[in-house]
Parts: sequence; C-alpha cells; structure tokens
Amino acid sequence: MEYLDLERLSDEDELLRRNVHRLAEEVLRPISIKLDRMSPRDRIRPNSPIFEAIREMKKLGLHRIHLPRDRGGVGLTNLQRYIIDEELGWGSLGLATLIGVDAIPFTVAAMFGSERVREEVVKPWLEDVEGRYIGCWGVTEPEHGSDYILAFRDKDVESFGRGNVVIERDGDEWVIYGQKSAWVSAAPICTHMGLHAQLKDGKSLREGAFVIVPLNKLGVRKGEPVDMLGNRDCPQGPVFFDGVRVPEDYVIALSPFYEVFSDQLLNITSVNMGAFSVGLARAAFEEALNYAKTRVQGGRPIIEHKNIKLKIYEMFEKIVTARHYVVKAMDYTYNKFFQLSFDAAPRYARTAQIYAKKIAFEVVNNALQIFGAYGLSSEFIIEKLFRDARALLIEDGTVEALSLDAADDVIQNYK
Ligand SMILES: Cc1cc2nc3c(=O)[nH]c(=O)nc-3n(C[C@H](O)[C@H](O)[C@H](O)COP(=O)(O)OP(=O)(O)OC[C@H]3O[C@@H](n4cnc5c(N)ncnc54)[C@H](O)[C@@H]3O)c2cc1C
Repeated sequence: MEYLDLERLSDEDELLRRNVHRLAEEVLRPISIKLDRMSPRDRIRPNSPIFEAIREMKKLGLHRIHLPRDRGGVGLTNLQRYIIDEELGWGSLGLATLIGVDAIPFTVAAMFGSERVREEVVKPWLEDVEGRYIGCWGVTEPEHGSDYILAFRDKDVESFGRGNVVIERDGDEWVIYGQKSAWVSAAPICTHMGLHAQLKDGKSLREGAFVIVPLNKLGVRKGEPVDMLGNRDCPQGPVFFDGVRVPEDYVIALSPFYEVFSDQLLNITSVNMGAFSVGLARAAFEEALNYAKTRVQGGRPIIEHKNIKLKIYEMFEKIVTARHYVVKAMDYTYNKFFQLSFDAAPRYARTAQIYAKKIAFEVVNNALQIFGAYGLSSEFIIEKLFRDARALLIEDGTVEALSLDAADDVIQNYK
C-alpha cells in the first residue's frame, strides 16, 4: 500500500500510520461490517460490538487528537492528525464519524471552558479508555438542516427563522427546551452533547449558544435510533430537551462570539470529513484494483482492458489530488485553531470537505462498476462503501449547502 506518496513521512509518522491502519483493518472494519447488518436497536445494546470499537480507539488516544498537548492532546503534528483520519476513514466511515463527534463537546470545553468545566467534564473524558464518556454534536433540527450552514453568512438571516432548541438564562443556570433531529451521530449511545441552541430572545439562528449538556440531566429524552442507508456503523437518533438545566459555565460560546465560533468549528469538522472521505475512497480503490487483477473476462484479467485501466488511473488521480489538498487545508485550519485567531478562511476548509466528498463518491461508484454484479452483492464490502459514500454527500452539510456557503465566502472575502 502506497501512502502519502508526495509527503515525506518520518519514522514516527510511519509507525503511527501502521498502528492506526492495523486497528482499522483488524478491529474497526470487521466490527463496522457487523454493525452494518444489525438492527438500529441491536447496534446500541450493551453487548454491541460498537463498544469494543470505541474502547480500542480510546485506548490509542484517538479521541484526543484535536487538542494541543497543553490541553490534554497527545502531541501530534497536523500531518499525523491527517494520517489518523485517513486510516479511520479507510476502516469505517461510521466509526470515524463516531470518534470525530465524540471529540466535539470535550475538545471545545478543553479549549474554551472554565477551570471547573475542564475538571468536571473534560478530565474524565481525557482519561477514559473504557468508553464511559461519549460525545455527540447537536446541530440539525427538524426545521433547520442546511440553514445551519447557510444562515450565518446570509444578509437576510432572519428569513431562516428561529431555532427549534431554545435556551434561556434563569439565575445562575441556563434552561433548554426543544428537539434536535434524528440525524445526530452517536446520540443513542452518547453521554454528552455539544449543543447549538437559539437564545430565547435572539432574533435569528446567529444569536445562539454552544452548550455542553450532560445527557443524564433531568428533562433529557432520547428517541428511537433510526435506520439509515449508509453510515449504519454510527447510530443516529433524536434528542429532546424539556426544561434541562445546566450551570452557567457549561455555556461555552455565547452570541456574538457564537457566530464566529460556529463558523470556525465547521472548518475543523470540514477538514476532518475531507480526510475521512479520502480514506473511504482509498479503501474502494484498493478493493477495485485487487479485484480487477484477478477477475477474468474476454479471456484475460479485466485490468488489461483499456476502459478498466483508465478507470483505475482516474481513481488514483482523484485520491492523490484530494489527499494533497486536504493535508494542506488541515494544516492551515489547525494552525489557526491553536493560535485562537478565529480567522481561518472558511472557503479553504469547506473546499477540502466538498472536493474530497465528491471524489469519494465518484471513486466508489467507479469501483463498484469494476466489480460488475458482484459489486451490488453484500458478499463484497464495495456495496457498503458505496452506501457510506452516498451518506457522505449529506453528512456535516450537503455538498450543495457547503458549496453555496463557500461561494459566499469567496464572493465576499477573496482579494
Ligand atoms: C450520516 C449523517 C450523519 C450526520 N450527523 C449529524 C450530527 O452528528 N449532528 C447533526 O447535528 N447533524 C448530523 N447530520 C445531519 C446533517 O448535517 C444534515 O442532514 C444536513 O446538514 C442537511 O440537512 P437536512 O437533512 O435537514 O436537509 P435539508 O436542509 O432539508 O436539505 C434538503 C435539500 O435541499 C437543499 N437545500 C436546503 N436549503 C437550501 C438552500 N437554502 N439553498 C439551496 N439548497 C438548499 C439541500 O442541499 C438538500 O439537497 C448527519 C447526517 C447524516 C446523513
């Protein structure tokens, strides 16, 4: 397996890559295949293999990769962050997503939370190798999906309406009401949510708050886990809030900081989604390359037919160009994040996510074509990769909404 062909990997990078690849190949991929075939309820039962996958990822410290060392991180370079993500995406898009959203509330709390929040919430999570603490990211609402991507840069933000989850101050506590949609990744098994909520007296989605909500609080209810086409290895479900009270300092970002905070948070998730997408594309490419060398039609291995050769080359071209760009965009975005400058240009991170998602879908689609009818059969993993790549085009923002948002940033800010 060639990897990051144009980057120079140090011995340390190479060792890290091998270790994470081993986890992806020997643990995550087999578990993801099992989860993919289970019912939504069985996937989240205490004996579900999902908890083994979480434990193994936490043992390697993969939940802590987004933090600098002085905030509890494991001292990675940005290239090493990329390497981990690509391997996770190679092993299982769902489990990569799961460990990604797990980190959101806790990473934000570690970077911006008070001493008390860091002690009460972040410390136990940092030290956890059992999967006792699992985070999720509550953005999407029944009435607001793409709105959360598009409203913030729109001149007429009020036309997008108000959020479905509302938060209001009551003395030295905050109280939360409303519902997050069924698409919240990891919600059915998580213990804490990084919640985006509308301020009660705010006029638009822009006037909101990012809150850490421990989900064992009175008034929290989780709905039925949903059955999806792809990304089935990461359970999804709705969460309801009925007068849920959190202490004052669990509100980590409040309007007007909330606005720039949300924009920059989407930068971080975008470069990570980009890296997962390259990993997923590489998985499909390697499956197709191996298959094409052994499948004989027309009296010779199909790899010798020119149409197949061209497809293989085009897949390779897409993966190496996407990888190169996502590595650079990730480096830029994390450097800005750690400087706390809050000025990473969204167009670069969004492009990483949009481009890599698009090529992932194209690569997996072509890979499936190379398999012929076998590609549609559950006997081969390509069928699962295809469903996962389809989900990618919607997860963390549809490619259309992300592209419109990036377009606005280019039009308003490109000099
Ligand atoms: C696998 C997966 C994992 C997810 N994980 C999470 C998670 O962890 N947390 C979370 O909060 N959410 C999560 N989501 C939800 C995801 O972020 C939303 O599905 C996504 O943002 C789109 O919102 P929507 O589904 O409501 O579609 P809608 O916003 O209703 O969009 C429907 C269609 O209309 C288009 N559209 C919408 N508005 C506009 C507009 N203004 N202009 C032009 N076109 C528009 C869209 O591009 C799309 O094609 C996940 C989704 C998936 C599939």
